[in-house]
Amino acid sequence: MDREFPPIFDGHEDFPYEMRLGTTGFPPKPRRDFLGGSERGQVDLPRAMAGGLGGCFTSIFLTDEQAEMGAVDYAMRLMADVYGLADASAGRFRICRTVADVRGCFSDGAFASVFMFEGADPISRSLKELRIFYEAGLRLVAPTWSRSTIFAHGVSFGGHLPETGLTEAGRELVAECNRLGIILDVSHINPAGFWDMIEASERPIVATHSSVKAIAPHVRCLDDEQIRAIAKQGGTIGINFANGFLRPDTKFDQDDTPLELIVQHFRHIIDLVGDEHVSFGTDFDGTDVPAVIKDATGLPLVVRALQASGVGEAGLERICNGNFLRVAEACWK
Ligand SMILES: [Zn+2]
Repeated sequence: MDREFPPIFDGHEDFPYEMRLGTTGFPPKPRRDFLGGSERGQVDLPRAMAGGLGGCFTSIFLTDEQAEMGAVDYAMRLMADVYGLADASAGRFRICRTVADVRGCFSDGAFASVFMFEGADPISRSLKELRIFYEAGLRLVAPTWSRSTIFAHGVSFGGHLPETGLTEAGRELVAECNRLGIILDVSHINPAGFWDMIEASERPIVATHSSVKAIAPHVRCLDDEQIRAIAKQGGTIGINFANGFLRPDTKFDQDDTPLELIVQHFRHIIDLVGDEHVSFGTDFDGTDVPAVIKDATGLPLVVRALQASGVGEAGLERICNGNFLRVAEACWK
């Protein structure tokens, strides 16, 4: 198919969570039409296709309450929703388990969805659930969201969380992900946990949705030393489009964030460690993004601005999807 630029494989999207918002209230809101398209949220199939978005790591995100009161149940419910989309899509939205699956979607113009856990809350100390979720398509795990799990502690969005690194169970989780062929994600983990993961993992690690701390000094962003460590191991960093992670003032509720600032985050990593280590990590349907982007249809603006900043054809391919797929090749079976 004809494309203006290589299909974007996005490091992090939260549509399974967003699609359920309000649907259990009273009166319940109907679930939005992901396959047919709607005005709600930031991504659906028509807007993905219009924006050159070829697929993503699809986040299984749980609220604190869900994580505490039935993480396995809620995770299965969200995954079943995504399977429902795939089943109703006549092949236009597919759950992918291999790099060949993802590339097949790219060549057929279908959306490539790969399951990720944004927090390993559904996994118990024995890790036995991990094997089952792997069979269901889980291919990327972040040990924790911005809270604590039995594996690690996140960076806090307010309130106090421990500053210690991976627990013993966390080290076992890293080893088991390496063994099974599941990519590890350092987005949301605290600095001690970050460095423990870098040390413990035998495979490249990614930050699916983290921006540059040198530009936006937020606790969720990565400093230059962390960026170098991810790069040294062969990993990549998906730039998060949350206003608060892009802006020097770290304000989430200001959406006049300029396009140039998004490009600066990409450029910072390119100039520091090369274009092999930066990707997209929009956080669509999980956060407020700049008004100039609005939703998935705004992605071509970023691609064109990257090209204008000097990113060539091969670099663009790497940034759009090649870097994540290289890590997947190194980690998945
Ligand atoms: Zn997140």
